[in-house]
Amino acid sequence: MSDRLAVAAGVDMGATHIRFCLQNARGDIILSEKLSTAETIAGGLVEGLSARLHQLFSRHQARCRGLMMGFPALVGDDGRTIISTPNLPLTPDDLSGLAERLEQALGCPVLFARDVNLQLSYDVHENGLEDAVVLAAYLGTGMGFAIWLNGAPWTGAHGVAGELGHIPQGDDRLQCGCGNHGCLETVCSGVALRRWYEQTPRRYALGELFLYSRNDPFIDAFLAHAARAIAASINLFDPHAVILGGGVMDMPGFPLDELIARTRRHLRRPLPHDAVRFIAAGSSDFNGASGAVSLARSRWLV
Ligand SMILES: [Zn+2]
Repeated sequence: MSDRLAVAAGVDMGATHIRFCLQNARGDIILSEKLSTAETIAGGLVEGLSARLHQLFSRHQARCRGLMMGFPALVGDDGRTIISTPNLPLTPDDLSGLAERLEQALGCPVLFARDVNLQLSYDVHENGLEDAVVLAAYLGTGMGFAIWLNGAPWTGAHGVAGELGHIPQGDDRLQCGCGNHGCLETVCSGVALRRWYEQTPRRYALGELFLYSRNDPFIDAFLAHAARAIAASINLFDPHAVILGGGVMDMPGFPLDELIARTRRHLRRPLPHDAVRFIAAGSSDFNGASGAVSLARSRWLV
């Protein structure tokens, strides 16, 4: 066994796709793979994950030293408890004792993380910002947000810090997916865009709305909400850099420069206004899994 290659594993589990990455001790990615979530876990979550990982380990003659796994979910501050997964087809039975059962099946330590924190880890390493204070806004289905502080994602007292999408700056008449009324996500999220899009017949696809309806008052208000929320977070944390990304910002015609200009208008002067940098996030398919495997490597391999 001792001549087997020591690797770290990263898994990013989404509702549609699950992504796997393996990395060696030098930091080289030796495998990236994207599979259907439903097919991978059809025979059970632990069974499906461990069967696929064992296949990958044996293909590379590898011995796994640790697995970091991301979920679009609230994850407890122990890194082992999944508190809530509204967007995944998982049952309470799947989640009960999940970390222990995976450790037993894989023979290595396992930790869980929130997917936006893994994406943030990827973007921080890509941009050489490990020693900086960094915020990231990932505007997708929800308003994903993450904080990099003291060389790691900052997750708060209970593991759930950074819920920018749920600050009470939305429409009080609308209920958010979290159960509260008036969260920012009621007016500033992919869900809010879809609701607006479906209100009336349109002659273009949802993904083209920034090309065809850029000047609609709803879209203008959408950008104003995003700018105010991101500016508020910058005035609170005084970061060196802010990373902007996510599925909505990746849509064709998304006015990123205008969002940045509007955000800057709300920043405290002279600082952080004169110093903060805005950086567009990488939009590769494997950012979350790459972030996961980097964290796994730094924890268990080096
Ligand atoms: Zn909410």
